[in-house]
Amino acid sequence: MRILTGLQPSGKLHIGNYFGAMQPAVQLQDQGDAFYFIADYHAMTTMENAATHRENVKNLAIDFLACGLDPEKATIFRQSDVPEVNELAWILSTVCPMGLLERAHSYKDKVAKGFDANHALFAYPALMAADILLYDAELVPVGKDQKQHLEITRDLAGKINDRFGEGTLVVPEVQIKENTAVVPGLDGQKMSKSYHNTLPICPPDTMTQKQVRKLVMKVKTDSTPVEDPKPTEGSIVIDLYKLFASEADVEKMIADHQAGGIGYGDFKQRLFDAYWEYFAPIRAKRAELENNLDYVNQVIAQGAEKARAESTKVLDRVRKAVGLR
Ligand code: ATP
Ligand code: MG
Repeated sequence: MRILTGLQPSGKLHIGNYFGAMQPAVQLQDQGDAFYFIADYHAMTTMENAATHRENVKNLAIDFLACGLDPEKATIFRQSDVPEVNELAWILSTVCPMGLLERAHSYKDKVAKGFDANHALFAYPALMAADILLYDAELVPVGKDQKQHLEITRDLAGKINDRFGEGTLVVPEVQIKENTAVVPGLDGQKMSKSYHNTLPICPPDTMTQKQVRKLVMKVKTDSTPVEDPKPTEGSIVIDLYKLFASEADVEKMIADHQAGGIGYGDFKQRLFDAYWEYFAPIRAKRAELENNLDYVNQVIAQGAEKARAESTKVLDRVRKAVGLR
């Protein structure tokens, strides 16, 4: 089975990325032929400048390996190392109705958040479809925010097959894990790099443990007084805690909310402790990799070769089918 997923180098990787995409990717690399990529063309839709972009790509490559993606098992590569993906995106654009793009939530959300409504951001789903279809991917693990983009991908593959022949493109399945489909951010919206509401998997070197703890203390809560019972439904603290803590600890956290007498500061401290311990091995691995950039670069270079070999086959098949060759 061919598995594929990508993450954007648009800022520090956060726990939503981890549970929505990274953890499933690590699990799936043992179950099939996996392709995992750094979506650097996509990140250009919201990029600040070239230097930051380059730094973000480097950091994401390190994060991939620190989180457990294994170059012995999976092909790890950078999207722009296979520029032919743009050709497939163009071919897909020719069968992509405007209405499909106009209805895309992700585009509307980003524009509502103040990003420029550039053409690339609007056409993002066509490039994302090309990312997936260029590698004959059969299974794509993602967070729920990508559900609609995957539907568009399936739709476009179907249109190409209808028009140019069955088997021109492989129609992929999506995998969305119910309990980690949408990890909430500190403010309760979906955690997103571009919303500045994230809890990083590995904080940047410039950030102390104390500053990260402060972030956790910012998690949005209501104003129930310390002595009163606190709501458990829709509690961001509890929802985040569930990602890291044992079942027994989660039950205790819920019981303590219901009993009253304990303040949110205490609950957030428990959340911080569980989170900090959970990612300790990944932080350690990351620190090691920071000092071994030659290895990281070598992984990406090898991944590019493997990705190119696969993409060439698929693109040749598509070019022939649509009459470009
Ligand atoms: P940006 O704000 O730049 O779009 P992002 O934080 O949404 O960044 P992406 O790189 O767009 O991250 O997404 C990478 C993967 O992480 C996708 O599979 C996406 O579904 C998943 N993901 C992102 N945010 C969450 C979240 N809050 N919960 C679960 N999965 C998420
Ligand atoms: Mg996103």
